[in-house]
Amino acid sequence: MMRKVAVLGSTGSIGTQALEIIHANPELELHSILCNSNLDLLLKQREQYSPSVTAIAQPGGECPDGVITGQGILYKAIEGADMVLNAIVGSAGLQASLICRDMSITLALANKESLVVGGSLLSDYISAGRVIPVDSEHSTIFRCLHREPRPARSITLTASGGSARDIPIEKLQTAGVDDILNHPTWNMGARITVDSATMVNKAFEVIEARWLFDGLQIDVVLHPQSIVHSFVRLEDGSWKALLGKPDMKIPIQYALAYPGRGLELISDDSPLDWGTLEFTELDRLRYPAFDIVARAGKDGKTWPAAANAADEVAVAAFLASRISFGDIATVIEEVLTGHEALEIVDFQTVMEADRDSRIQAERIVIRLC
Ligand code: MG
Repeated sequence: MMRKVAVLGSTGSIGTQALEIIHANPELELHSILCNSNLDLLLKQREQYSPSVTAIAQPGGECPDGVITGQGILYKAIEGADMVLNAIVGSAGLQASLICRDMSITLALANKESLVVGGSLLSDYISAGRVIPVDSEHSTIFRCLHREPRPARSITLTASGGSARDIPIEKLQTAGVDDILNHPTWNMGARITVDSATMVNKAFEVIEARWLFDGLQIDVVLHPQSIVHSFVRLEDGSWKALLGKPDMKIPIQYALAYPGRGLELISDDSPLDWGTLEFTELDRLRYPAFDIVARAGKDGKTWPAAANAADEVAVAAFLASRISFGDIATVIEEVLTGHEALEIVDFQTVMEADRDSRIQAERIVIRLC
C-alpha cells in the first residue's frame, strides 16, 4: 500500500525537501501541498509533483484555477491523507496538528511550535504513538529509544551554537541580518536560523522534548560540528546517538517512512569526513534568551505561548532591520514580565495568549526602534 502524504508548508525548507523525498520513494505518494503565500513556487510544485489538492493561505490576489484558499483549507489538505507532514512555520502550525489529532491521522511533526505553545493539547496523541518528530534532535532521540527495551536515564540535545557562535560577544548586540543568516552547519529558513543564533530554538527544543519524551531529564551541550544529532543515556550510563553530516532529509524521510517502510540512501559520508568532534558547555552570557525561554517552558501554562509569540514578532522585526540582534531577548523578556499566564484548556486559550503577546511585543519593538 502506498502511503499518501499531505505536505503542509510545502514551499519552505522542510517542505521542498519532503517533496523530493516523496518523489524518490516508491512507497510514498503526494496527497496535497499547502503553503502560506509563495504562489509561484506552489504552482511549480503542482506542475512537477501533481498532488490531488493544492492550497494557499494568502494568495495575495486572485487564486488560480484548481488552487484552493480561504476557510477550511487545512481540513481539505489533510482529509484523505494517511500521514501529514506539518512543516508550517510558527504557532500557526498548531491548528493543523490539532486537526490531525481530531482526524486521527499520523503526524510527522516539523512544526515545533505545536508542542511549544500547545503541548498539553497533544499529549494524549503523543502517548498513543501518533506523533513522529522531524526536528533532527528529536528524531535522533526517537530513533535511539525505538525498540530499546530498557528505560533511558536522560537525553542530551546537541546545539551547533548557530551563526552567533563565532561573533565576539561585544559585537553581538548590534550584529546585522547578514551576519546572522549565514548559519555554519545547517541550511534552514530565516526564522529558525535567527532562533538558532539566539538559542531560542534550543530552548523550544527542550520544551518539545519534554512533551515527546515525558519524564526524562533533558540536558543541552554545544557541539559546533553538528555531527552528533543528540544523545540518549541508557540505564547503565552508556550513550546512544545518531551521527552523520547534517542533512534534514534523514529525519524527514525517517518520519515519512515510519515505522517500517524502505529508506532510500541519502548520505554517504564517512567518519573520515567528520574531523574533530567537540562538546562544550553552553555560554549563558552569549545566549541570554535561552534561559528566559527555557524558564517559560518550565513554568508551563501559557508562558511558552507568550514567549513564542514575542519571539516571532522580535525575529520578524530583526529581519526587517527594525531592531538589533540583542533586542530580541529584550522583547521576549519584557513580554513575559507583563504576561498573565492561564492554564491551557483549549486552542482558544493558546490563541488569546498568542494574540495578546504579539500586541505587547509589537509595542516594545516600536519603543526600541
Ligand atoms: Mg533542531
